[in-house]
Formats: sequence, structure tokens, C-alpha cells
Amino acid sequence: MVQVRAGAYDCDVLVVGGGIVGLSTAYAITRAAPGKRVTVLEKEPGPARHQTGRNSGVIHSGIYYRPGSLKARYAVRGAAEMVKFCAEYGIAHAVTGKLIVATEREELPRLHALVQRGRENGIPVRELGPAQIGEYEPEVRGLAAIHVGTTGVCDFVGVTRQLARASGAEIRYGARVVRVDRRPERGVAVLTASGDVVRARVLVNCAGLYCDEVARLTGDEPEVRIVPFRGEYYELARPELVRGLVYPVPDPAFPFLGVHLTRGIDGGVHIGPNAVPALAREGYGWGVVRPRELAGTVAWPGSWAIARRHWRYGAGELHRSVSKGAFLRAVRRLLPAAEAGDLVRAPAGVRAQAVLRDGTLVDDFLIREGARAVHVLNAPSPAATASLPIGREVGRRVLEMLAAAG
Ligand SMILES: Cc1cc2nc3c(=O)[nH]c(=O)nc-3n(C[C@H](O)[C@H](O)[C@H](O)COP(=O)(O)OP(=O)(O)OC[C@H]3O[C@@H](n4cnc5c(N)ncnc54)[C@H](O)[C@@H]3O)c2cc1C
Repeated sequence: MVQVRAGAYDCDVLVVGGGIVGLSTAYAITRAAPGKRVTVLEKEPGPARHQTGRNSGVIHSGIYYRPGSLKARYAVRGAAEMVKFCAEYGIAHAVTGKLIVATEREELPRLHALVQRGRENGIPVRELGPAQIGEYEPEVRGLAAIHVGTTGVCDFVGVTRQLARASGAEIRYGARVVRVDRRPERGVAVLTASGDVVRARVLVNCAGLYCDEVARLTGDEPEVRIVPFRGEYYELARPELVRGLVYPVPDPAFPFLGVHLTRGIDGGVHIGPNAVPALAREGYGWGVVRPRELAGTVAWPGSWAIARRHWRYGAGELHRSVSKGAFLRAVRRLLPAAEAGDLVRAPAGVRAQAVLRDGTLVDDFLIREGARAVHVLNAPSPAATASLPIGREVGRRVLEMLAAAG
């Protein structure tokens, strides 16, 4: 059994997870408190192998989120900071702006509500009629749209690597945390799958798709479970059909933005992601099934509540997942020129969505504290955009905890 002994620490802060949130946290701590020793344990052979390396690469403006929420505050601030960070370190990025396009009459009130929300969040938006949509995107059709100028794209993997370098933290790859011994009066000791033991004063849990499990390893009950939702993508074989970023009006019942068209920093255009249940937390295709993880999802009452509440929407998403024709029909609402041959399968991502026992999809970022531990329990989109402010907030809590521990 791994045990904590007083005074014998390998580091001050141990971060579990080498995605963009874990490494932003390490970076924030060493910036705010030079001299603090931070160790990051990441189970993969390199950084950003899961959500951070499998997303749309969009620097979100913050237009969608409830004013005053962490998502709104951190996305608006984080987008500006992300652009600055990329510029400072020479990481590929571009502030392209984006269109949100209504294709059905019933979406018009929701589009208008987004204009209001954008203004409340301090984001300048321009309202467009059908003819003006063509000025930005000649091949896109819609009844009305808004243009958001502060949205951009960047290389989040490059950002994460730079955060790792600039943090000065010791980063151990291939180090999967399998056990935690936490003594409130002493600190934490973790055991990795390869048998290493690392002792620290405070643990930070940024384990993404496994954050609820890591929280439980410490002895804290997170009161949420991660329900993995896969997002599947196609690549557009004729990228010249899309100049920038084109989004539908999102369904407010879901924290997902709907299938969008995204020209990335490499010039390719991605179409997606949809949202289908994944059969494993890192289940990037229907063929990946992990019975233990699936059983855990099925045993959580919230999963059934989601299925009951959202079966109709879910059935549509499943249909579009297995039928390219159905996916194409959805894409054609925005981009009528798209043809079946234009859609080429691309790698998928899986979102770590926290779900309460009653089936509520946790909407805002969720950071909880236990004794000697800070847990990031919900950091879905736009957490890559917002990672610098999230890291600072987690870092602030950690430093307070260290000060209190003496
Ligand atoms: C399909 C998709 C599209 C998205 N699009 C965008 C977008 O355009 N813009 C945006 O801002 N956000 C987007 N997001 C959200 C964004 O990618 C995430 O919010 C962000 O990457 C979360 O970072 P993270 O560090 O919390 O998680 P992760 O990147 O998943 O990192 C967690 C890390 O913890 C490690 N880990 C887990 N368990 C252990 C363990 N026991 N021991 C050691 N290591 C462990 C994992 O290997 C992993 O590397 C998208 C997400 C998805 C899935």
C-alpha cells in the first residue's frame, strides 16, 4: 500500500493529467509562485492525446454562455489571452471570425437571443440577412446569420507543448495514476501503474475523461459521473467551399454546438462533431467497448435520465452517425453544394461531460476542493479556449491550500 510520510515530499503540487487544463495549471502555479515544485503525471507517451488533441481547434468568443458563468467569463478572457499566447510563442493561430446561421424560421428567435447574449458578454456581433451571408461565405445558405469577429482557430496541441516547456514542471509521461493515499494532515501519495510512488503536499485532478474516477481514488465523492459523448468528424474534400467557420444555431437543451464547418489552421475544413454516446471513455469508434466503463455509465442513474429525456435528439444523432447520407442531409442545410463524395471520415474526439445523478448535464465548468486536493470535474468546450484563466483559478486555490497547510 502506498503511504504518505510527513516531510518526505517529492514535489509541492502533483497534477494528474497532461492535457491543456493540467498544463495550464502547472504553468499558472510556477508563474505565480516561482520555486514551487510541480510534477505532472500523464498516462500517455506525450501531452494532449485526448480531448485537447481531438477537438475543433476553435478559439471560442464566449457568445453562447450564460452571462456571469465561469464559461462566459473565462472564454471571453481566455480567447484574448490565447491569441496573445500563440503570438508570443509563434504558435499557429488566426482570428477568422465566424458565422452562426439560421436555416429554419423557428431558429430565428434563438439567433436573436444569441445576439443579446453576445452583447451582454461584451462581444461585438453583426446581424446579417441572406444576401450578406454570401459576402462572407458564398456557398453557405441561410435565412439570417450573425458574424462574430473575435472567434479564431489555433493549434491547441502546440499550445499545450509550450505550456509544458514554459511551466518548468517535471512532466512524467507513461505514468498512469492507479491509487491515491490522502492524509489531510500530511499530504498525498500516488502510485502509478508502473509502480512509482510520488508524494506531494497537494494533488490537482485534471484527468479529463477520468476525472470522476481520480476524484474517487482520493476518497472524495465527486457527485457527478463523466458520461462520454463521442464527436465524429468528416473532412471536406473540397475545402474551397468554405472560407472560415460556419455554425448552426445550437439547441439550448444541450451543451453541444451542433455540426459545424471549421477551416483549421492547416487549411483543411472539418465537419462535425455530432454527439453520440461512446461505449468507452476513450472510445473513438463504435468498435471500442470497455465493459467496466460501460457498466459504470449504465449504473449511474443520470445516464438513464438523459436517455429518457433526450431520446428523440439522440436517435437523430445515432442515425447521422451510422448513415453518411443522413449526416450529409444535415450538412446540406448549411452548405447545399456538399455532395457525398466530399465527406471523408476524419478522427473523432470524446467529450468528458459531467452528469448529475438526476441526469442534468452540468453546464458550467466545475471545480471542487477536497482536503489537499483540487478537482476539475467539468471542463468541456470551451475549456481549451479558456484554459489559461481556468489554470490560474485552479492554481490560486492550490496556493491557498498550500499556505493554509503551512
Ligand atoms: C470533439 C470535441 C470538440 C471540441 N472543440 C473545442 C473547440 O473547438 N474549442 C475549445 O475551446 N474546446 C473544444 N473542446 C473541448 C476541449 O477539447 C476540452 O475542454 C479540453 O481539451 C479539456 O482539456 P483537459 O486537459 O481537461 O482534458 P484532456 O485533454 O482530455 O486531458 C486529460 C488528460 O488526463 C490524462 N489522464 C486521465 N487519467 C489519468 C490517470 N489516471 N493518470 C494519468 N493521466 C491521466 C489523459 O491521458 C489526458 O491526457 C472540444 C472537445 C471535443 C471532445
